[in-house]
Amino acid sequence: MLWRKVLLAAGVLLLCTSSAMAEVVVVLPIDRAKFLTGQKFDMEIELRGAKADEIKVLLDGKEAASFFGVNPVVKKETGLSSFRMDGVAFTKPGAVKVEVEAKAGGKTFKANVGYTVVGPEKRAAKNVILFIGDGMGLVSRQVARILSKGITQGKYNGFLEMELLKDGFALLNTSGYDSLVTDSANSASAYATGHKSVVNAMGVYENSSPDPLAHPKVENIAELVKRAAGMSVGVVTTSNITDATPAAMVAHTRRRAEQNFIAGEMLKADVVLGGGSQQFLPQSTPGSRRKDDRNLIEEFKAKGYAFAGSRAELAAAKGGKILGLFNLDNMNVYLDREILKNPDVLKGFNDQPTLPEMTRKAIDVLSGNENGFFLMVEGACIDKQLHVMDWERSAYDTIEFDKAIAVAREFAAKNGSTLILATADHSHGISITGTYHEKDGKTGRQAVRTYAASTFPTFVDADGDGFPENPAPEVTLAVEYANHPDYYEDFKFHEKSAPPAIMSGDVAIGNTRRAPKGILYPGNIPTSESQEVHAADDVPLSAGGPGADYFKGVMDNTEVFFGIVRALGLDPK
Ligand SMILES: [Zn+2]
Repeated sequence: MLWRKVLLAAGVLLLCTSSAMAEVVVVLPIDRAKFLTGQKFDMEIELRGAKADEIKVLLDGKEAASFFGVNPVVKKETGLSSFRMDGVAFTKPGAVKVEVEAKAGGKTFKANVGYTVVGPEKRAAKNVILFIGDGMGLVSRQVARILSKGITQGKYNGFLEMELLKDGFALLNTSGYDSLVTDSANSASAYATGHKSVVNAMGVYENSSPDPLAHPKVENIAELVKRAAGMSVGVVTTSNITDATPAAMVAHTRRRAEQNFIAGEMLKADVVLGGGSQQFLPQSTPGSRRKDDRNLIEEFKAKGYAFAGSRAELAAAKGGKILGLFNLDNMNVYLDREILKNPDVLKGFNDQPTLPEMTRKAIDVLSGNENGFFLMVEGACIDKQLHVMDWERSAYDTIEFDKAIAVAREFAAKNGSTLILATADHSHGISITGTYHEKDGKTGRQAVRTYAASTFPTFVDADGDGFPENPAPEVTLAVEYANHPDYYEDFKFHEKSAPPAIMSGDVAIGNTRRAPKGILYPGNIPTSESQEVHAADDVPLSAGGPGADYFKGVMDNTEVFFGIVRALGLDPK
């Protein structure tokens, strides 16, 4: 069963089933992979379940070694044989045919896969800014639009900044090559490399190795723009900076949990702003999550980075490289950080910058490079707050994320030549059922207003900053979830967040603390899950600026990478 899964997942070919354990030939990169000419990758062929006598690999009819000019490393062990060539690249655009023939114990195993290689285009954009609203599906955008802009007699009073990017629009498919529903490492990796991967992996294809750093790699956008064009790179997020999305821009690992390692990989970026000092401080420091005595903040400083640990320090930071870490772990969400300011929640991190402030600083610094820059900005807690079923906190973070896009649009309007992309890495199963109020004494599900009863919500943004002052107006939205554990629902905003479910042994049960007067909604996902989970829904991408025309219709998520390298005219040969 497992082998069958591997086989289907990798799109690879099973050729002989005579022995107890089926032998499988796995070709990495997988069938239908697409490459930019000159983009480096590791090619690996594994014969799983057998000790090979011989593995022969032909590319367009030519022996692999002479095709790439690289000698393969061949390993023949009982139950696993492999043929590997690291750091190879295609030099010409077009289709490539790969034929594999492995011989073991008198049997022959064959596999055929095909690749597409695209060449460089004329450079259209000097800079690219990729905004990733983590988990920000279509409905998250709409919830933010309702709260931020309002709706009168059925017409919106305005649109989000990301919705004003109108030169390109696409729906992206988000699946990895192993499963329908992705995680953020896998999906950000597709944007960063143009290649699909598997859940929890970034910048690699999955081989059989237990070592998360030994899987075959694909060159990512940070490495490419530096190597091919001498551009600068920035990574900005509201999460722990070593979390999946920012990490996938720079790192290669089968396991996103390798955050000690990922922290060091952040040296590939010139501007690094977010939370997560726990991965940079030596293990002797309280709160550190390092397993060694390295002080990465000092190491970054020694390599010429200015360091900022607060909003004030960020404002004052100077130079071409900045490391800013504003919390031990994830930064606090906008509602807690900027509006509620509960000291029990902020835990001493009282001076964290906003995402727009971090974005502005990153652009200021990176735009000093005449060769241009690539910047990724993530609104990370849009996702994290939906996992804990707190759509209000998620919506305020979506609005904050949108304000960061305003900063980029302002820069692009002044400086030109900047492609701005705003998308999500995957979706969450939320839907706007209607509105909710208790004006007539009804409560709970009886007070969910549908159809004609769903009169407009009463969020008010009196000071015009884009954020409604009160996240809990008399008439609020009825936002409901498609994929959740057992939880208590009261349709109200919770000043103090609490997880939707808690583990009782290995079963997740509704947490009464979340909504003491709420009604129990039985879960619709396995009881082992204590959080709301990702959905496989396609996600919207809005694009503005030179190169934005690439994005139209329904596209695979890997095409984000190809749209970026096309706009930048990257030619890494
Ligand atoms: Zn998530």
